[in-house]
Amino acid sequence: MVKAAVMVKPGVLEVREFPKPEISEDEALLKVEYSGICGTDKHMYLGELVHPGGIVTPFPIIPGHEIVGVIEEIGDRARTRLEATGVELKVGDRVVPVCDVPCGTCYTCRFTYGYVAWCERAFSYGTTRSCKEKPHLYGGWSQLMYIHPNTLLFKVPDNIPPEIAVLTEPFAVAYGAFMKAMQPCSPVLDIHGYSPGDTVVILGPGPIGLIHAVMARITGAGDIIIVGAGSEADEWRVNYIEREFGGVVDYTVNIKNPEERVREVLKLTGGRGADLVVECAGVPEAIVDGLKMLKSKGGTLLVVGVFIDVGRSIEFNPATLISHKNTRIIGISNHPLQGYERAFRIMRKYASRIPIHKIVTHIFPLERVKEAMETAIKGKAIKVLIKPN
Ligand SMILES: [Zn+2]
Ligand SMILES: [Zn+2]
Repeated sequence: MVKAAVMVKPGVLEVREFPKPEISEDEALLKVEYSGICGTDKHMYLGELVHPGGIVTPFPIIPGHEIVGVIEEIGDRARTRLEATGVELKVGDRVVPVCDVPCGTCYTCRFTYGYVAWCERAFSYGTTRSCKEKPHLYGGWSQLMYIHPNTLLFKVPDNIPPEIAVLTEPFAVAYGAFMKAMQPCSPVLDIHGYSPGDTVVILGPGPIGLIHAVMARITGAGDIIIVGAGSEADEWRVNYIEREFGGVVDYTVNIKNPEERVREVLKLTGGRGADLVVECAGVPEAIVDGLKMLKSKGGTLLVVGVFIDVGRSIEFNPATLISHKNTRIIGISNHPLQGYERAFRIMRKYASRIPIHKIVTHIFPLERVKEAMETAIKGKAIKVLIKPN
């Protein structure tokens, strides 16, 4: 039997046993080493369930879409087909699965390269396929995970330990976000886009915020300011970031009152505002903060964190915050495939210079999954991992 953590409904997590799947020649089984707790998992646990496309979490599910593991079993045909870059796989190889599984034949699959999650018939491990469906093990918080034939696996280079490789998926998100920010950039006009030396403000000092700060640093940002919303948890996080990531982040701000928060960020930028604001807070209200923190003309706002629809809208003045400021707003969901391989290259290149392993602050065994989730929600943590084996 295989043990897995099951989110039965919001607020209810328990360890259940499932039969070990029999695999065909096109499938594989992954022995999960680590699987992260993402903001999306927290939202589902809190009853905020609407994923892009209006898909509602199909409980019960085995969560876990940030995953690293080793091949436990692999079918004959799968050996040469599952790895995204064409590497032949064998039992014992360490891989990171792309969490979204595309159909391969719809319009989006054929014409939107890289963003497999946008497939019209995709499902995602850990979020949008119930463990009621056979062979049940559709998530990473499980001793073994089922690998569907349409899955893309990336073989992890030997010199990247699993404690870092488990961060590949969120690094791919940050890669995709910065790639979009860089695109139509006009250095001559000094507006839009993102270029070396830019002042970057990150809203939200959680794991996705910190990973975007790392991405900003290695892509040549000038000052990086990471901003919390004044809670005790955010205080813990900004203190941790100051202590462990002083070489990445230049300033931290943690203020409850939104107006004071904006004023403090503007002060830190010499009154000019940020060239780029990256929203990694996961609350709609942060968008307004971000628009106010941007420079007076031609700033860019990346909207990354508000991925799950929490059912709340916001109000702001589009004349002063978008039109007059010539603001560029870029929505981000999911990640491009290229981000996985780039994440490996970044991890290999920078792990000795940036303490990437310290993005992970807590590791819990499967049996303590509830405690793991509560630790992540209370927020005196950055990345919390589940270690199922
Ligand atoms: Zn996620
Ligand atoms: Zn498709």
